[in-house]
Amino acid sequence: MKIAVVGTGYVGLVSGACFADVGIEVTCVDIDQKKIEKLKNGIMPIYEPGLEEIVIRNYKSGRLHFSTDLGEAIQGAEVAFIAVGTPPGEDGSADLKYVLAVADEIGQKMTDYIVVATKSTVPVTTGEKVRSAIKSALDKRGSDLPFAVASNPEFLKEGAAVEDFLKPDRIVIGIDDERAEKIMQRLYKPFQLSGERIIYMDIPSAEMTKYAANAMLATKISFMNDIANLCEKVGANANMVRKGIGSDPRIGNKFIYPGVGYGGSCFPKDVKAIIRTGREYGHELRVLQSVEDVNEDQKHVLANKVKSHFGEDLSGMTFAMWGLSFKPNTDDMREAPAAVIIDELRAAGATVKAYDPVAMEEAKEHYIFDKVTYCKDAYDALVDADALLLVTEWSEFRIPSWEVVSKLLKNKVIFDGRNIYDKNYLGTLGYTHYGIGSK
Ligand code: NAD
Repeated sequence: MKIAVVGTGYVGLVSGACFADVGIEVTCVDIDQKKIEKLKNGIMPIYEPGLEEIVIRNYKSGRLHFSTDLGEAIQGAEVAFIAVGTPPGEDGSADLKYVLAVADEIGQKMTDYIVVATKSTVPVTTGEKVRSAIKSALDKRGSDLPFAVASNPEFLKEGAAVEDFLKPDRIVIGIDDERAEKIMQRLYKPFQLSGERIIYMDIPSAEMTKYAANAMLATKISFMNDIANLCEKVGANANMVRKGIGSDPRIGNKFIYPGVGYGGSCFPKDVKAIIRTGREYGHELRVLQSVEDVNEDQKHVLANKVKSHFGEDLSGMTFAMWGLSFKPNTDDMREAPAAVIIDELRAAGATVKAYDPVAMEEAKEHYIFDKVTYCKDAYDALVDADALLLVTEWSEFRIPSWEVVSKLLKNKVIFDGRNIYDKNYLGTLGYTHYGIGSK
């Protein structure tokens, strides 16, 4: 079986490599020539645990190809996945220009029946737009080649993407064509060895499922942050509350950790996009508007704690920051709360020294190029720093040598944006510890 995956980012590259790993012949296509060259040379354009090994192994075996030529990639392919970006437009709606450009190009270049499956996160009605784009490109050629469209939203998590793809909780497929359904069934069979995982549905429902899933997860986070902020005021401890409510299986213990707000390339843009879809249809999604508002405020909570400890004017002060990426195990800096915190500390006159195990290159290149001093390791960031801010809970920050930390930090003050440190223990070492959601 042969397929093409168009867009070689977090979703496309992981999907392509994992499909190749189960024996499918895959061509990953991207318009970014540099990215394709890097991949051909075994250099990963992104950081994702386990990805390098699986990409190199399948590339060497000849099952995984990289190309900038979409026409060539879809020759003989039974499925073409669209996995390009859908960034937010100015009004918050998902910008479909990359998705529709790919659909148009497939229509121009296809030579046989093909299933065009959208993996990108796209609003309801996109399936129809993809179908129209392919159809009008075919019409221009005077061709009536048959094709099918499908919606196959991706649920992988950055940081555990390979694992999630190989062992999915579920595979959602929106489809309205019997032949296409059989092809998708065959394609996904190897990922369902431990039981049926595919949920078939109509295309609009599949498109909506992805937004509803991300919106629900974002809601859990904002809900907990809201409760945590109240906990601080009333003298309760949000960590205890989290354990208390998380033990109820109807609530569950995931995604209820208070912190510095959600970030990344998905939750912020997807929450905005579904709010926008609601407005287009005259339906105000009030819960999700609050989810977004709470999250915007939450990104300022840590810097506010710094100011209430040291005063509004932080001129001449230096802060060490551990972690930049929006969550551990990824180099993704898109919408990372760290960028907001850095801006706020700098606006108050402070200097920031940062260390992140993998995201510093990404931060330098795209997001916070010259705003911080990048350090060679976690301890280096503490040299001459007035206090430490923990922003991303990478494992290597969990049990530092407090002896070394105490020697380097000017003041024993820690702003723990992810509640990873034990306040009581740090208290015995003479530290003032500020967490999220407790006094
Ligand atoms: P990304 O920005 O990492 O990658 C997108 C890639 O598409 C880029 O390499 C870009 O060069 C390429 N591209 C753009 N136009 C193209 C074209 N015409 N032809 C070929 N390639 C083209 O994006 P991503 O994070 O992989 O996300 C892709 C989609 O998947 C988005 O809709 C996103 O919301 C969704 N998604 C992302 C995640 C995630 O964790 N990142 C998870 C699930 C779903």
